[in-house]
Amino acid sequence: MDITNFDDPDFVDFLWTLSDQLESEEQDILQRVVDGGRAAYGALSNKEKRIFDDIVDVNTITNCKRCGDPIPWNDMIEARNSGGYCSYCRNNKPNLDDDD
Ligand SMILES: [Zn+2]
Repeated sequence: MDITNFDDPDFVDFLWTLSDQLESEEQDILQRVVDGGRAAYGALSNKEKRIFDDIVDVNTITNCKRCGDPIPWNDMIEARNSGGYCSYCRNNKPNLDDDD
């Protein structure tokens, strides 16, 4: 995916939250990028970049599974934990599983 969000504080918060759930090697890479932003990402080795991109990729829900709305970074962890739904759908559909 395209990583262009280093100036977005919500994206940085998302990385912080993720780092709690990672192995120490991944955590180290993530924290370097959180601290140093785009420059730190640019300074990663190819292997580290791949690890970072994978971490972001597997933890990112681009669009809500039900309504298709883009998921904002500040709701990403919740959306991921709920199975891929935006806050609107989570709050307005008590039985998301019945909707398909
Ligand atoms: Zn939705």
